[in-house]
Amino acid sequence: MKDFLRHPLLSSLGVDHGFGTVGSAPRPQCLVLRQTHGTQVLSSRESRSQEGPLEGDGLISGDQGEEVGVFTADCLPVLAAAESGEFVGAFHAGWRGAAAGIVPAGIRRFGEMGKILPADIRVVLGPAIGPCCFEVGPEVWEAVRSNTPSYVQGPRRTLDLWALVTHQLLEVGVPLENIGRIPLCTRCHPDLFFSHRGWGNRRKGRSMLNYIRRERR
Ligand SMILES: [Zn+2]
Repeated sequence: MKDFLRHPLLSSLGVDHGFGTVGSAPRPQCLVLRQTHGTQVLSSRESRSQEGPLEGDGLISGDQGEEVGVFTADCLPVLAAAESGEFVGAFHAGWRGAAAGIVPAGIRRFGEMGKILPADIRVVLGPAIGPCCFEVGPEVWEAVRSNTPSYVQGPRRTLDLWALVTHQLLEVGVPLENIGRIPLCTRCHPDLFFSHRGWGNRRKGRSMLNYIRRERR
């Protein structure tokens, strides 16, 4: 049975986390938001203070044993942890949220909540639709380019979410050695992942949970 995928940058901190696959078990204890492809990042306390799931695309927790997560199919899941282990976060970045800066917004929120500097945060970019498969129209391309003008790609209009978000992380001061990737394309690996683009209606609405928990194992 396929399980959650993990990355040594976070595992070596002792932070429990996982990027979901088609076979990973549900985790009903995980806090999630109603995702909107925006840039709203909430603290887990804010999300727990109200009835029902709030809207947002990023959640940060500083509470021991608490788990936060995001659902993805082709969008990019991003999991982050302070090197001290005190704060963890999960972010959902499709092209719209990525272009608008959901991940830098999350890094800023680490600073506001726990005075955590970007240099002291580790970030892992999980499986997503890759540049091999993610051809975009001119309007998407323009939206990305106008929001991140220094992000330059080749002549083909294919979007590399891993490269885009890595570029943004470097811009806000997260060092390259603190940025990890699990560069598996969700569309190229239908045995491993749900992909809206790869599966069409056959798996419509299916998505994978990506979680991170503030707890030393
Ligand atoms: Zn692909």
